[in-house]
Amino acid sequence: MHSKVLIIGSGPAGYTAAIYAARAMLEPILVQGIQPGGQLTITTDVENYPGYGDVIQGPWLMEQMEAQAKNVGTKIISDIIETVDFKSTPFKAISESGKTYTADSVIISTGAQARWLGLESEKKFQGYGVSACATCDGFFFKEKKVAVIGGGNSAVEEALYLTNFASTVYLIHRRDKLRAEKILQDRLFNNEKIKCIWDHQLQDILGDEDPLNVKGIKVKNVKTNEIQDIELDGVFIAIGHDPATQIFRNQVEMDNEGYIITKPDSTLTNVNGVYAAGDVKDKTYRQAVTAAGMGCMAALEAEKFLAEKS
Ligand code: NAP
Repeated sequence: MHSKVLIIGSGPAGYTAAIYAARAMLEPILVQGIQPGGQLTITTDVENYPGYGDVIQGPWLMEQMEAQAKNVGTKIISDIIETVDFKSTPFKAISESGKTYTADSVIISTGAQARWLGLESEKKFQGYGVSACATCDGFFFKEKKVAVIGGGNSAVEEALYLTNFASTVYLIHRRDKLRAEKILQDRLFNNEKIKCIWDHQLQDILGDEDPLNVKGIKVKNVKTNEIQDIELDGVFIAIGHDPATQIFRNQVEMDNEGYIITKPDSTLTNVNGVYAAGDVKDKTYRQAVTAAGMGCMAALEAEKFLAEKS
């Protein structure tokens, strides 16, 4: 399957690139990947995407973006790219289903995924009381005690969301200051169900073996080294995200955290004709609206590249 523009990934960056490329008559193909719609499909309220006076829902916003991309002429394919070859042209991408996609230009918009602490117990209890998505799993903790680990926007949003179900939500942060936006902090501090535990690191998750079931956590005060156990039923890890760039290793230049490096004021990677937009290349802003903006840039740059080439 050959296209002038192949877009890999289906978050706000990918769909916006598709809308612009399709409207430039480039007949783009967009391969959706593991989580069609990306991270916004596992959030609820979105109140900072401009253009909507009322609060909208993340999954709905992504459905709209997909429909818009399709309506202007993007071919959207439900498939997962597993390997790429950008060493020669046309560029190649091979999918899980065995299909080979070739393209004159590629826009990488595979986004980022939740980061884990790396504890053995965290892995063991995943799906049995440990989660990285409150909107997916919060429902299971009606009138239970849960903890959220982290101090960014995600952690605060998860904690607030969990108060819809849980009786108590502990927010456990390794410092005594949150990096979350002020408006979210205000909501957090005004919510009686939330108790902040400052300067503490999660050490271990405790629970039953058979059946697997979380019963508590062990946390350490990073200032005094004192360790304490807290009884609870669920743990939500919200400590940030890692870029989904594994398959692009050795193909495009990345920094030591795996973010794709692009030229200043551009989405161009070190490979001419290959662009990167959204969370795969942005560790600073990571917003739906900035990702969408970069998707637009990538499509415009690909259009210019193809016009100069022909
Ligand atoms: P983040 O802003 O990077 O915050 C990660 C948090 O986890 C930080 O508080 C960090 O602590 C903590 N942390 C990291 N590694 C840790 C570890 N090993 N042990 C304990 N704590 C650890 O990540 P995020 O909250 O996922 O947000 C990512 C981006 O998405 C941000 O740009 C955010 O603004 C955006 N976002 C926006 C919205 C919104 O606008 N509504 C919602 C969600 C996310 P330190 O503070 O000590 O570094």
